Amino acid sequence: MRGLMQDWPLLIHKAIDYAALQFGSREVVTRSVEGPIVRTTYGAIRGRALKGAQRLVRDGVKPGDRVATLAWNTWRHLEAWYAITGAGGVYHTVNPRLFPDQIVWIVNHAEDRVLMADLTFVPLLEKIADRLPTVERYVILTDAAHMPATGLRGAVDYESWIASADGDFRWVEVDERDAAGLCYTSGTTGDPKGVLYSHRSNLLHSLGCNTPDGLAIAARDAVLPVVPLFHANSWSLAFTCPMVGAKLVLPGSKLDGASLHELFETEEVTFTAGVPTVWIGLLAHMRSRGARFSTLKRLFVGGSAFPASLIAAFETEFGLSVSHAWGMTEMSPIGTFGAMKPAFASLSGEALWARKALQGYAPFGVDIKIVGDDGKPMPWDGAAFGRLLVAGFAVTKGYFKGAGGDVLDADGFFDTGDVATIDPDGYVRITDRSKDVIKSGGEWISSIDVENAAVGCPGVVEAAVIGVAHPKWTERPLLIVVPDKAKPPTREAVLDHLRPRIAKWWLPDDVQFVDEIPHTATGKISKLTLRERFKDYRLPG
Ligand code: ADP
Repeated sequence: MRGLMQDWPLLIHKAIDYAALQFGSREVVTRSVEGPIVRTTYGAIRGRALKGAQRLVRDGVKPGDRVATLAWNTWRHLEAWYAITGAGGVYHTVNPRLFPDQIVWIVNHAEDRVLMADLTFVPLLEKIADRLPTVERYVILTDAAHMPATGLRGAVDYESWIASADGDFRWVEVDERDAAGLCYTSGTTGDPKGVLYSHRSNLLHSLGCNTPDGLAIAARDAVLPVVPLFHANSWSLAFTCPMVGAKLVLPGSKLDGASLHELFETEEVTFTAGVPTVWIGLLAHMRSRGARFSTLKRLFVGGSAFPASLIAAFETEFGLSVSHAWGMTEMSPIGTFGAMKPAFASLSGEALWARKALQGYAPFGVDIKIVGDDGKPMPWDGAAFGRLLVAGFAVTKGYFKGAGGDVLDADGFFDTGDVATIDPDGYVRITDRSKDVIKSGGEWISSIDVENAAVGCPGVVEAAVIGVAHPKWTERPLLIVVPDKAKPPTREAVLDHLRPRIAKWWLPDDVQFVDEIPHTATGKISKLTLRERFKDYRLPG
């Protein structure tokens, strides 16, 4: 017998419908790409998204068609998402930090029909447009006054484009299982692969994330997502905030410490989210200026490991509460939250930061396991390293156009490509990407653990560990450090700092100082580039 409850469809545009109805005057504030601060509301955003959807339909966009966005976090980008999905289309977020050739590759692979881009990307698009045959029209996310003269096909400024629609429109009817968004993984190995989110997966993911032990965002919050809309769904914030009526503060293209701090203060931000490199920049700014946060309470971090020393710095020096999470594009993206289970509720000081530096436990809706090379589950004892596999309502079951083939194991679990331990309390500790693990004498060394410990050493700004070939041990760890120019540490000081903190045989064989550590388009340390850069390096002795 079937239940007799309504099949209320889990569609993304329900989020903006709700926000417009219940929180119509709640503000969305942007540091615009053109410069000035722009204020709008959820009510206005919905109205303009309806016009955008109407225009897309008039331009011939059909359900399932991909519409690319190449843009920073702004209100227009947010409107574009709701317009695209409201027209039955699929928003395809393109990361502007990718190389032009990579952008060409993914736009062609996605067969985007319309490309919506920030003003600043017009010169880039002009260089590659003749290699983007599927794009019929470029909508530049600006107004007529700022619109540059351009030969881009069908180019139009966004404001004029939506002004030509009256907004008397109903969202195009789609099924909740239909595709809503497309985001390519960075493709550090092989070609990028498209993760195709459905309305249902996005909506469930947003609900599943915003629990009291998860994002815990409420109507009273003012949220500043530093994490871009193009980085794995902005970790759900573009849906979660309207779903609860939180104020949104969008930083545009300026993600440096000074610009962020100014917005935190002027817009009375209470919650922010971003990757570690952004927070390292903010911390340096705060310390150098002796600055404080007046309203900011919570700092959410993910995308790469966040060491205990940085958690301690934000918590003790600046009075914030830091939440550390792990996830990936293929998981919509959140996989674990670093909340304290009741057994750890009374932790404080070093013990608290050490637990917060773990990646946390999986929330409801995310099943996890670690397996050995034979695919058999490994114990949750906090010691056994295994490949981390996941399943859930917002986990991919295959890549766009079948890239990569069958990606699930016999039980329907997806291999994350991460290596982890899970402790008896369910807390995950990511030790490495499987392609980055260092195998020494048949055992694994966790580069993340060594990096986290190194960053705690005074004078170390950033640290990366890579494996270097060794005649006896196969590989040995090399530590690469960006020193604080004002007070650079010595090689010995760094190694002395590490000695009591990691297993003896994990101690790097050498330390190399560099001006900068290379990062990927999503802000992760690029081990690939580092290994390339140090390929001729020979360990001492
Ligand atoms: P990409 O940068 O490849 O586009 P994602 O942003 O999806 O991809 O990155 C996912 C990967 O980032 C994870 O598989 C994991 O290796 C790493 N990662 C994410 N969060 C954390 C974290 N908190 N600690 C350690 N590694 C993390």
